[in-house]
Amino acid sequence: MEVIARDHAGRPDLAAARRACARFVPIAGAVVAGHWVPSVAVLGQWGPFASLPGELCRWQGPRGSARVALTFDDGPDPEGTPRVLDALDELGIRATFFVLGERARAHPDLVEEVARRGHQIGTHGDRHAHHLVRSPLWVRRDILRARDAMAALGHPARWYRPAYGQPTGSTLAIARAVGLRTVLWSAWGREWAAAGPQEVAARVARRLRSGAIVLLHDSDRFGPRGMSRRTLEALPLVAAELRRRSLEPVTMDELMA
Ligand SMILES: [Zn+2]
Repeated sequence: MEVIARDHAGRPDLAAARRACARFVPIAGAVVAGHWVPSVAVLGQWGPFASLPGELCRWQGPRGSARVALTFDDGPDPEGTPRVLDALDELGIRATFFVLGERARAHPDLVEEVARRGHQIGTHGDRHAHHLVRSPLWVRRDILRARDAMAALGHPARWYRPAYGQPTGSTLAIARAVGLRTVLWSAWGREWAAAGPQEVAARVARRLRSGAIVLLHDSDRFGPRGMSRRTLEALPLVAAELRRRSLEPVTMDELMA
């Protein structure tokens, strides 16, 4: 097949090639803008993005409600999740667990236990991968697999948090199209970089306010060994800070109600 346009003399038609390029550049630009710009905006926690029409992505709940949502990513984990569940029981806190589809299929009993203790379950995608380096088709497959995994386990997810908190434009659009609400966070423990539980709690406390969504982890799987232990030991300190500020910990659904 002839792919290079030629003029009537059989020479390559450079003008036609330039016209084809001119058509291709805006399309490529749109793909890049759609895929990367939202990611950069999200990485920078660019405020206006949080209020796009259709609520494509949430960082926090309503201010003034005196409620906050504690959320745990990367489980279910046979080591970390049961310990976090016991600690939350002791503290009388209900939270939201963003679980990975592949881990949920491997540990359905743990998913059941999280729900049985009164917590909400959201999805963290099927595999823990950066969407920035994946194609929109890969992202779509991953989100659908994660959604279907939770439905098959009898715990359909409403809330979705992309791995590493880095949705692309495709991520946001696909999640919305399949009925998931994307949520990031407004406060985090950064347990992987904390020297101990006090530092985790202090980091959370700095951004703790009405409507806050707090990111913590119940698994070491995507961080240094011992990370979720720091989370566990920070929980009583976070709970004390919540009490001191008269903030009520609730699930994602309750926070956004
Ligand atoms: Zn994660």
